[in-house]
Amino acid sequence: MGGVLGGMGRLALGAGAAGFGSLMRCAEAQTPPAASGSPPGAAELIYSGGPIVTVNDAQPSAEAVAVRGGRIMAVGTRAQVEATRGPGTRMVNLEGRTMLPGFVDPHGHVVMGGLQAVGANMLAAPDGEANDIAAVIRILREWVGRNEAAVRRYNLIFGFGYDDSQIREGRHPTRDDLDQVSTEVPVLIIHTSSHLAAANSKALEVAGITAATSDPVGGVFRRRAGTREPDGVMQENALIAAAGPLLGRLDEAAWLSMIQAGAAADYRGLQTAPTEATIEAVSRCFERNWQILMHANGDAAIDLMIAAVREATRRHGSGDRRPVMIHGQTLRADQVDPVRELGIFPSLFPMHTFDWGDWHRDSVLGPERAENISPTGWLMSRGMMFTSHHDAPVARPDSMRMLSATVTRRSRSGDIIGPHHRVPVATALKAMTIWSTHQHFEEATKGSIEVGKLADFVVLSDSPMTADPERLAELKVLETIKEGANVYRAA
Ligand SMILES: [Zn+2]
Repeated sequence: MGGVLGGMGRLALGAGAAGFGSLMRCAEAQTPPAASGSPPGAAELIYSGGPIVTVNDAQPSAEAVAVRGGRIMAVGTRAQVEATRGPGTRMVNLEGRTMLPGFVDPHGHVVMGGLQAVGANMLAAPDGEANDIAAVIRILREWVGRNEAAVRRYNLIFGFGYDDSQIREGRHPTRDDLDQVSTEVPVLIIHTSSHLAAANSKALEVAGITAATSDPVGGVFRRRAGTREPDGVMQENALIAAAGPLLGRLDEAAWLSMIQAGAAADYRGLQTAPTEATIEAVSRCFERNWQILMHANGDAAIDLMIAAVREATRRHGSGDRRPVMIHGQTLRADQVDPVRELGIFPSLFPMHTFDWGDWHRDSVLGPERAENISPTGWLMSRGMMFTSHHDAPVARPDSMRMLSATVTRRSRSGDIIGPHHRVPVATALKAMTIWSTHQHFEEATKGSIEVGKLADFVVLSDSPMTADPERLAELKVLETIKEGANVYRAA
């Protein structure tokens, strides 16, 4: 989402990161009384018995970790850490499972993820079954059968996640297809990118979209061939205009152009935000020292972001604002140095290499541009930090598949999309832990297993550092621990 977050509070926290002393004092001040029987200052919890991957270059692995007051109080060998043990210390045996710092999400859409969870699952295999138009219709009919009360209450049949690149007919469902689901109740299905949608005739009627409706700026109502009659497929700002009457929750959407299919060879996406307005908005944020998070996926959108950040910097000076480029999917080689020089933080989307790598190669971008999507190799060669995100619900919020895609860049067909952009496992882990915290100004307290940081961990079924890289997607998240408390345990 095109959100803007204030970063100054977290900036101040980041600036106080020099040395652990101040952090430890801070932790002590918040520490509850020690468990009964423990001497003051003893650990409440000690983890050991499995590999511990710290994502701290100064101490990459450890045998044990001690926790007190929700923070990490010791990391090291078993003997070193057990020096913090008291009579009340709970000893946790990892039983061979692997502990890492908690994953930190660099970019996703929580509300949309909720919509995905309640609507019909229109994803293609392996996450769903919507691999042809007949399946789209069948899945929606079945969903109506299971959700009759909701359909009556909201007067809407809603699905999320169809993907024309995975639909056998190679096109979007139209109003005619969706009229086979219902002619009485509006049907709206959102494309997996969230940038397009398809509606039935009733939904178009409710939204007031007819042959007389003109396209909004930065949006297109696709039309039946040779006529002005809408065919039900809506793109970018046209979707937002239509969604209001049908789905008020989508009003916040202001996304820059992303995925498009079936367009002419010279198609270059839609500019949803005017150039001057974008430059002024970024400048206003810089003036207030706010961090910006800007969806910039196509290289023209990235050019616009670079121009806006450059102008805002000229007006208001450089500073530690960490403007975030969300997706950077088609970042060109010549754009990387300006991005680095302006301090733009790249949050990339290597999961595309799995989900849509074949499609980018064969259809949308062609082989040369496809192999350079999410060009992590160009960033690594310059020593730049970046993050790797899932953009849920665009892709599934599956950390292991994200790790796998960043490391292997294997497409659905098994091809490797841009072998020179594959990154080592240790780097890919940084892109979902410590570098994410830099993106969020939270590196002083999260992102690695270090003394003084919050006791936020994940426990995996196997160590990604030693597992077969081709099987990383099969690792399981078994536990999630937040400030020493277990918040998730796999069934
Ligand atoms: Zn997004």
